[in-house]
Amino acid sequence: MDDFRLDDNAVRELLERARTRAGDDGAAAALARAGAGSPLDAEDAAVLWYARAIATDTIVALARRARGARTKELDTFSPLYLTNTCDAACRMCGMRRDNTALVRETAELDVIEAQLVTLLGRGMRAVALLTGEYGAERRPWAMRYVNAALRAALRLGFDHVLLNVGSVGDDELPVLLADVERGADGALPAKLTMCTFQETYDRRTYGKFMGRDPQNPRSDYDRRLANFDRARRAGFRLANPGVLLGLCPDVAFEMIAAIRHVEHLRAAGMEVYLSVPRLRRIAGGGAGREVGDDDFARLVALLALALPDAKLVLTTREPRPIQRRLTALVGALSAGSSAVAPYTEDGARFPFAASQFEVLDQRPFEAVLEEHLDAGVTITNFRDARCH
Ligand code: SF4
Repeated sequence: MDDFRLDDNAVRELLERARTRAGDDGAAAALARAGAGSPLDAEDAAVLWYARAIATDTIVALARRARGARTKELDTFSPLYLTNTCDAACRMCGMRRDNTALVRETAELDVIEAQLVTLLGRGMRAVALLTGEYGAERRPWAMRYVNAALRAALRLGFDHVLLNVGSVGDDELPVLLADVERGADGALPAKLTMCTFQETYDRRTYGKFMGRDPQNPRSDYDRRLANFDRARRAGFRLANPGVLLGLCPDVAFEMIAAIRHVEHLRAAGMEVYLSVPRLRRIAGGGAGREVGDDDFARLVALLALALPDAKLVLTTREPRPIQRRLTALVGALSAGSSAVAPYTEDGARFPFAASQFEVLDQRPFEAVLEEHLDAGVTITNFRDARCH
């Protein structure tokens, strides 16, 4: 299968048609089709995005009904930042290399292992390992460093490990995955996920935020877009693309582009998690705009209707009221801190000056998840300490 290419013109033409249809009786027809239980096609999703006479709560209720019994199942994981260093210069990010306001930290392997043991001891069985993205000089170090952390997580028995370490070249994947066991078909362990958020699928916005300097490892839009295709060829079967809301003002464009990306990954046989985090405050201040609660809820509901086979990811970067409103629509709720090696026996550090982004809900992940357990939701990858 070819690498994913986004046809920007086709997306913009679809949006144009949808805008016209939203103004006539197309919105009622799209709503009726969604209500009948079949997945929403991309154009219908765009129609319902534009049809503001239809309240967001109506679409949220529809998405909740469409998820049916699956509203009672939730996946989880905690982020574990190994370091907050980075050689890239994304203008919205606390970790960008020129952010002198950020207090830099890098965890040694023994600290990482202790953090993993702490997470397991608290019942968390899924972890996302995060770093920055590095230039030519530091890339070999980064690949070996993440590989050591990955092997530690697998050895300790985590059920799901997500890697959020930037885009990785064909020649680097063998280092990243060195000594990781494979199945007879060459596939990696069932629950090993490559996470690479495009952040924005709009090329102009991408250049504005991620830069155009070829020395900047993050500035290559196409290289990043094809990261899952390289990962799949290297044996990954799970992918977690994402859009950072607050970069491109055209949220409908991001929605359709993300749908196209997920469709490509599903057609390639990958299981998909999809993240749509909203931009948050960072130490030193950053670029970007706010996306309101109503637009956010509408987007999540439409993605849930359009992509029933993908697991949408909600995080504790969102405040509790938004979690209450939207958790029934998503497949995963991620809880934890975006600081380096932050976990303690009963909570986490949330130092704003050392975090990639501000996390609004700073409760221990047990408290976040127990709220849903108490409501009868089954949570995979978390063993509630109260049950022992
Ligand atoms: S978004 Fe990622 S690559 Fe860009 S500055 Fe932040 S950590 Fe680095």
